[in-house]
Amino acid sequence: MLPPDGHVHTEWSWDAAAGSMERSCARAVELGLPSIAFTEHADFTGWLIAPGVRARMRQKNAARIGPGNSFRPPPLDAAAYLACVQRCRDLFPGLRILSGAELGEPHWHEAQVKALLNAGSFDRVLGSVHSLEFDGTRLVDLLFDQAQPADLIRAYLAEALRLVESTAPFAVLAHIDYPLRHWPKEAGRFDPAVFEDEYRTVLAALARSGRALEVNATVPLPPVIVRWWYESGGADLVFGSDAHEPSAVARRFADLAAAAEAAGFRPGRHPHDFWRRNPGAGRSRPRPRPGPPPSFT
Ligand SMILES: [Zn+2]
Ligand SMILES: [Zn+2]
Repeated sequence: MLPPDGHVHTEWSWDAAAGSMERSCARAVELGLPSIAFTEHADFTGWLIAPGVRARMRQKNAARIGPGNSFRPPPLDAAAYLACVQRCRDLFPGLRILSGAELGEPHWHEAQVKALLNAGSFDRVLGSVHSLEFDGTRLVDLLFDQAQPADLIRAYLAEALRLVESTAPFAVLAHIDYPLRHWPKEAGRFDPAVFEDEYRTVLAALARSGRALEVNATVPLPPVIVRWWYESGGADLVFGSDAHEPSAVARRFADLAAAAEAAGFRPGRHPHDFWRRNPGAGRSRPRPRPGPPPSFT
């Protein structure tokens, strides 16, 4: 059985034009998933955007574009979204459906986060970094034009550390590898070992905070980072497709589950639980350092 999908977007996320909660549930049932979490975007950060991006965004989000090339993502309609979750629970009684939200930079927006989470019941809350302060607040996706890739990775992990060390109310750190989605080909193959100290610092803080790490399927997350999570004392692991359309639900999950098992994690007691660290998995394994960097695809 595939692990639960803990990170799915539907028509209730502002950037998921092809999303559908009902068809994502149907896909989950078809795949035999024990559970699915609809973690819709709650982005409170406004971004500076380049003129070309502004033109593309204007087509669908004209009202959100302000003066000076600023863009403010639309809010999540919590009441309507939660009503849709309830409708899907009625339609798919055999599937465990979790409500949720993916909070963008929740450590920057304490009051707004609190207001959202008080507006209803959210079973699964993800914490994400999508933006960095970089000559203004910018979406990480658009920053590779303006900064050295290695500097961006380090800036991203520094912000992820501030998020993890904050008291923001989230249970899972989403996509620690988010900037790799835009890693430029000209920079060569991405090697996590170059940033091992920075990754380990975030992972150790995450473990201390008692929160879980997400294995995001988009890049996908390099398996060595899951191993570092194990070695940092990380207890819980969650798989997330980050699907923005039904066909992407649980994408790559068989491979990701096999890699997570090799890194020292195993399914929880119930099929819908977080995966847990396997206490015996670390003993016979050599630590990955010193030695040549492993391969990451
Ligand atoms: Zn995200
Ligand atoms: Zn997402």
